[in-house]
Amino acid sequence: MRLIFDCHTHTIYSHGKGTIEDNVRVAYEKGLKAVAITDHGPGHLTYGIKRDKIAVMREEIQALQVKYPDMEIKLGVEANIRHESGLLDINEEDMKYFDIVLAGYHYGIFESNFLRSGYIHLRNYLSKTVNRPFKKLKIENTEAIVKALYNNNIDILTHPGYKEFVFIREIAKACADTDTLMEISNSHIHMTSEEMQEAAMENVKFVISSDAHVPEEVGSFRLGLQKARDAGIPMDRIVNISEN
Ligand SMILES: [Zn+2]
Ligand SMILES: [Zn+2]
Repeated sequence: MRLIFDCHTHTIYSHGKGTIEDNVRVAYEKGLKAVAITDHGPGHLTYGIKRDKIAVMREEIQALQVKYPDMEIKLGVEANIRHESGLLDINEEDMKYFDIVLAGYHYGIFESNFLRSGYIHLRNYLSKTVNRPFKKLKIENTEAIVKALYNNNIDILTHPGYKEFVFIREIAKACADTDTLMEISNSHIHMTSEEMQEAAMENVKFVISSDAHVPEEVGSFRLGLQKARDAGIPMDRIVNISEN
């Protein structure tokens, strides 16, 4: 099995360690057909991309596309799902620059009601730390993600269930309805085998991503593939792997 494209990689524009070219070079050396640069959305308190850098990233990618003509290089973003509204932390102006939009839930995104959003993050953090899916919180989390899926044009939902507990089947159904790929992360533990099986009961497609924060990890997919295999996910449900 080989990976055809890696649509989730980070660079120094958020909190990755390498430059855009570092990621592109590794993707090229590993024989990928396409790679996406998807730094964290601008709403994140500590490591979001700076809005005024998005055009610069676009220019860098245009230049690299000339240097690496055989591989498609996309500019994307890993937008943050704002828990309260289900909206993302990117606007129409930002969207002009992106070829692909990923979105996921992370701590560190605050709404106008700062205390309430902090409280939600804290409860999610605690719930994950003690590994107890508090029912009411799990319902709220699921609603926020489902709302985000229907209210935005998201290509890939990143690491569902990683920083919060959710009802995975409802999420999978919304992904299927909205034509959103569900990510299987090579870097994070986020869905159990049982949850993957539940998700697969819906007509949803999966994508394996490295979520690389260092260039060497770009194109890594073996762990993600193993997780999918262990859960019995049919390989033809994963859009970016190939037998040959
Ligand atoms: Zn993420
Ligand atoms: Zn990421």
